[in-house]
Amino acid sequence: MRSRVQDEAETVIGPRSYQIFAQAIEEATSVDGHVVEHLKRFEAALQNMNQGLCMFDAQSRLVVCNDQYHRLFDLPPGTLSFGMTQEEICTLLIARGCYPPSVTLAQIRESTCIAAPHANSLPVFRELADGRILSVRYRAMEDGGWVSTFEDITEQRRSEARIAHLARHDGLTQLANSRTLRDESRRLLTDANPALPVLGVYYLDLDRFKFVNDTYGHAVGDELLRSVAQRLRASSGRTDIVGRLGGDEFAVVRRMPDPEEAELYAHHLVKWLGAPYDLSTGRVQVGVSVGLTTCRENPADIEPLLQEADLALRHAKRSGRGTVGLFEPEMSEAARLRRRLEAEFRDALTMEQFEVHYQPLIDLDGSRIVGAEALVRWRDPEGGLIPPAAFIPVAEETGLIVPLGSWVLRQACRDAAGWPPEVVVAVNVSSVQLRQGTFAGTVLETLAETGLPAGRLEIEITESALLDESETTSRNIQTLHEAGIRFAMDDFGTGYSPLAYLRQFPIDKIKIDRCFMKDAETDADALAIIRAVAGLGISLGITTLIEGVETAEQLELARAQGVRQGQGFLFSRPQPGAVISGLFGPPQPS
Ligand code: C2E
Ligand code: CA
Ligand code: CA
Repeated sequence: MRSRVQDEAETVIGPRSYQIFAQAIEEATSVDGHVVEHLKRFEAALQNMNQGLCMFDAQSRLVVCNDQYHRLFDLPPGTLSFGMTQEEICTLLIARGCYPPSVTLAQIRESTCIAAPHANSLPVFRELADGRILSVRYRAMEDGGWVSTFEDITEQRRSEARIAHLARHDGLTQLANSRTLRDESRRLLTDANPALPVLGVYYLDLDRFKFVNDTYGHAVGDELLRSVAQRLRASSGRTDIVGRLGGDEFAVVRRMPDPEEAELYAHHLVKWLGAPYDLSTGRVQVGVSVGLTTCRENPADIEPLLQEADLALRHAKRSGRGTVGLFEPEMSEAARLRRRLEAEFRDALTMEQFEVHYQPLIDLDGSRIVGAEALVRWRDPEGGLIPPAAFIPVAEETGLIVPLGSWVLRQACRDAAGWPPEVVVAVNVSSVQLRQGTFAGTVLETLAETGLPAGRLEIEITESALLDESETTSRNIQTLHEAGIRFAMDDFGTGYSPLAYLRQFPIDKIKIDRCFMKDAETDADALAIIRAVAGLGISLGITTLIEGVETAEQLELARAQGVRQGQGFLFSRPQPGAVISGLFGPPQPS
């Protein structure tokens, strides 16, 4: 049977030392002659412990003390002698400057001298003057004395602190990570501050970060993120919470006097973070968009506010770069509808609820059909047709446009392969598809699979697809152009600098946006633009087409300006494939 004292002695001096000690005692009591030998072994065990150890008797007098104890307090060996009281030892340690100057004997007495004999085995932590931290345990013994052990846990504490920091901070920028931002924000929610009654939650996203990363490499991207974090930190107050939510997204949570101030701060962030950065490779500039939501009450949770700020940010991004978006309650409703649409859209893709309709492209000289544009439709389970404007934006945002676009392309090429050889098929391609490294390959495979010659496929792209200057987009266009596929610039005239792209990319056709046709009869500027574009087309050798021809008058007007082709309800609405094939007339013998 082991006694409690045995158990305690073992935990205090460690199982190995205890074993030697216990064996020594046992043998000493049975064979008197070996007592000295065994005490030596005990002494060796005591001196080889990692911990400092002191044993006091019931009168608080030192009876055992090892060398490690001396080393921990930087005392020359033999400084302590048996019979010294614990209070004398504490006084000596203070006099030698072992403890920080602020520590007094009274404090030590409070925590050690008085507590020690009664203390349980929970450790007490003591900071030394040199910054080290000792873990001290006191164990009472049955005879009224006690044993104290001292362990240097400085390293352990440091790595604990390091691990805690890593878990709570973003490794790259040292800002709070997403979890910490949420934890700390919750704390801020409960701190009512009458001078700053409004809580502002800011969600930030860099505008051209991907471009910087792709162009200059990840090291520069990282450097930029660190610089942005530094500016964010510099522009925030002590109680503000600043965090990196991942990628190039950041968030700030701060208390403000009123909503106007909160908005001003958002504009300040746009300006301050949008100023050029001098990085090691040179000067780099990125914009930042900010979504902001404010709230006057003390909400129960930060999560809904972060979501609101995020919605406001997405909204801001849609309306342009470097802007501030303020949260409006309707945005939540719109987001809910979008999520529903997205879910239904996924189902529709697997259930093949999409159809491709075609609208003829007419040569205005001879009024012949020279091609047809493929326009996707979604047939909902009740049989109604959903127009693309209702779902293409969601498909683009979710990336679902990639599988949908491939499906439309295959369907269009398959249908067109059965049309007369002089008729081309025009397929709309989204910027999201063009940015896929696999896009050119997919198109070429589809042509091979369906047997449609490359010269009979026309890809319609918009200016916005060329706007982000992605290298993958250029490569895709170049590869497909070299394979003989033609490109049309869609919705021409609605962007910022359409002419710049005409020089930069191999464009074969310009489709003048239908808003110009709509206004041509009443607005001299619209007519002048149609004429100018038609002239430009002739001099650059690019075919021009006018969209939205609805009346014979409009057709005459367009023809008179020198436009080569037209498309619109006057000729035909978009129609199912079977109807369109009928318009081409009987197949010509080849
Ligand atoms: P878009 O490329 O400008 O397509 C022409 C749109 O103008 C079609 O609308 C067509 O029905 C409409 N339209 C044609 N003639 C007239 C006319 O005389 N008057 C008026 N007011 N409108 C006319 P739709 O089919 O609703 O397509 C809308 C847009 O959706 C397209 O604009 C295109 O940007 C996009 N889209 C359609 N199919 C696809 C697709 O497969 N992939 C991608 N990425 N986008 C598509
Ligand atoms: Ca189009
Ligand atoms: Ca168009």
